Amino acid sequence: MTERTLAIIKPDAVGRHVAGAIMQRIEDEGFQIRAMRRIHLARREAEGFYAVHRERPFFHSLTEFMSSGPAIVLVLEAPDAIRKWRTLMGATDPAKADAGTLRKQFAESIERNATHGSDAADTAAYEIGYFFAGVELI
Ligand code: GDP
Repeated sequence: MTERTLAIIKPDAVGRHVAGAIMQRIEDEGFQIRAMRRIHLARREAEGFYAVHRERPFFHSLTEFMSSGPAIVLVLEAPDAIRKWRTLMGATDPAKADAGTLRKQFAESIERNATHGSDAADTAAYEIGYFFAGVELI
């Protein structure tokens, strides 16, 4: 089933100038980019996006990192896009990520891990709506 997911190229990857390499991989793997924008999240916007993690010990550090510089948000479309994108990203912790995954190649640490991807259909719908209006999805 064709599906959409929200992807973020996080500030660590944009800052190290590997956003282009990640986007090339997105296209090579057969995703359609339905929307894309370069953003610099305000702290409150990062806190809103990661509200589900607000009780976690790393919430403060994570939202500081996510608002530390520009990021690129994208809506990716493919058959089984949510699972497919999470497989391409690899494990949250790059030390545990499989060879050939984006996090293995580009992540610096469990926090500065290069990319984000929605984890389920309901979160994908919420996260796409957090950044994009329907008319921007083309
Ligand atoms: P994801 O779905 O693989 O992105 O992982 P989670 O939803 O569990 O966590 C969200 C984000 O929080 C991750 O992508 C990391 O940037 C960060 N994160 C997760 N676990 C840790 C941790 O143990 N320590 C720190 N500092 N950051 C973490």
